[in-house]
Amino acid sequence: MTGPSTATPGGDAYDGVMPSRPIDLHTHSSVSDGTETPAELVAAAVQAGLGTVALTDHDSTAGWSEATRAVAGTGLTLVPGMELSTRLGLDSVHMLAYLFDPTDPALVAETARLRDSRLHRAERIVERIAADYDISWGDVLAQSTSGATLGRPHIADALVAKGFAPDRSAAFAGILHWRSGYYEPHEAPSPLLGVRLVREAGGVPVIAHPATRGRGTNIPERAFDELVEAGLMGVEIAHRENTDAGAERLRALARRHDLIVTGSSDYHGEGKPNRLGENSTAPEELERIVEAATGWAPVRG
Ligand code: AMP
Ligand code: FE
Ligand code: FE
Ligand code: ZN
Repeated sequence: MTGPSTATPGGDAYDGVMPSRPIDLHTHSSVSDGTETPAELVAAAVQAGLGTVALTDHDSTAGWSEATRAVAGTGLTLVPGMELSTRLGLDSVHMLAYLFDPTDPALVAETARLRDSRLHRAERIVERIAADYDISWGDVLAQSTSGATLGRPHIADALVAKGFAPDRSAAFAGILHWRSGYYEPHEAPSPLLGVRLVREAGGVPVIAHPATRGRGTNIPERAFDELVEAGLMGVEIAHRENTDAGAERLRALARRHDLIVTGSSDYHGEGKPNRLGENSTAPEELERIVEAATGWAPVRG
């Protein structure tokens, strides 16, 4: 894999010249719950006319090598990243992490633990669903690639394949809803530990979609202040699931703490309606990410 910043420190490697084409810093491949392989996702990003794409699979860096090989010669810049699952009380808090060292032992251990917890939790959810619907663990595995970070999206795909839901979104609104009686959360570190792990690995932590509707991810302001103190560097504001009022609060928060502000699609291939480039990040904000990172460098294709 090319791009470790031990050889080419992040800021220098990028030389400050930012592409004028759209920058989309949040996408998923089949390494987690996207429906395209990392190489297919890169091809889709080229097709969509992006200048820069970040690969941010849930709790895994397993797609970095393939995506790095795939951008070669395309003119697309890859920002290797991850969306780390964390939990604050009952609320799930997703933390985007960019340009960290993927071999950092503490982060590697935590993400391995997370994926393992997700696997067993998914098995238990499926067991409960199987009491009422004709679905097996094998049906779920058939919807995921080997070693993928497993989650409810794969169970959703199995339910769709079996005809119990028309699509992923419907499965989430019904059988997979946290109030359905089948749900249980997976284990996850606190956001505070998440921020520390990412920073210690030389990465840039950015809270994903912090102002969505409904349960979860609406972090109290005091908790936010604490995260910033611990090294949180940015917030994802332009995201289809942030409410307008929430985005307004986030903009004030970002100004107050001088945070990096990003906008992204959260593309999952056919797994979600989100389209590549539907939201984007300003070049100067990406520049701040690249300059702050010490773990890895963007890969210019
Ligand atoms: P989990 O982490 O296993 O609890 O599942 C949450 C994941 O499901 C997130 O990564 C989302 O991308 C995905 N997800 C949540 N809601 C929906 C939805 N309505 N349709 C499709 N995917 C969803
Ligand atoms: Fe997802
Ligand atoms: Fe997320
Ligand atoms: Zn995401």
